Amino acid sequence: MEPHILRNPRHVGWIEVVCGSMFSGKTEELIRRMRRALIARQSVEIFKPALDTRFSREDVVSHDERTIPSTPVATASQIILLASKADVIGIDEAQFFGNELVDVCQQLAHDGKRVIVAGLDQDYLGRPFEPVPQLMAIAEFVTKLHAICVVCGAPANHSQRLSCGDERVQLGATDAYEPRCRDCFDPEEKQLTPPRPDETSVLRL
Ligand code: ZN
Repeated sequence: MEPHILRNPRHVGWIEVVCGSMFSGKTEELIRRMRRALIARQSVEIFKPALDTRFSREDVVSHDERTIPSTPVATASQIILLASKADVIGIDEAQFFGNELVDVCQQLAHDGKRVIVAGLDQDYLGRPFEPVPQLMAIAEFVTKLHAICVVCGAPANHSQRLSCGDERVQLGATDAYEPRCRDCFDPEEKQLTPPRPDETSVLRL
């Protein structure tokens, strides 16, 4: 459930986590909350990993044609420097920022900011994927979203990797994963088809 969107008179900050598997709609939910803050005349800004080239670096345009500034950053600490004027701070793809993001979010919330963090909570082996589990523990509000299992249609909690490699995340390689439920998820599943030639151009972290 989305928390109240208006800051209270004491300007107390807090942390919201939006997590789940790939294709669970985390970024959509982040942007939905940012748009609502924009409607409430709050100053908003989204930060995302600089290596994320999947999306345009242009601002996100809201339905009323106002824009949400979207800024690529190389490290979590840069968010502190760049977010000073924002009331509401969105952070997408949290899993790429590492554990440094935990202290950054704490500091922003202590400074009175509303911090909304979206990211994967598990890696392709089903292991808790820091820093999102740590952020879930310290957050005031946690929302776990689900995709739909492509095998059986159940709610999907896992990201099944379909390609080779043992990197924990393949940045930008959304076609290398599919959502699966607990029963259909198999981290040991062997790859059925070799990687396509165009996958060699995929950025890897
Ligand atoms: Zn399934």
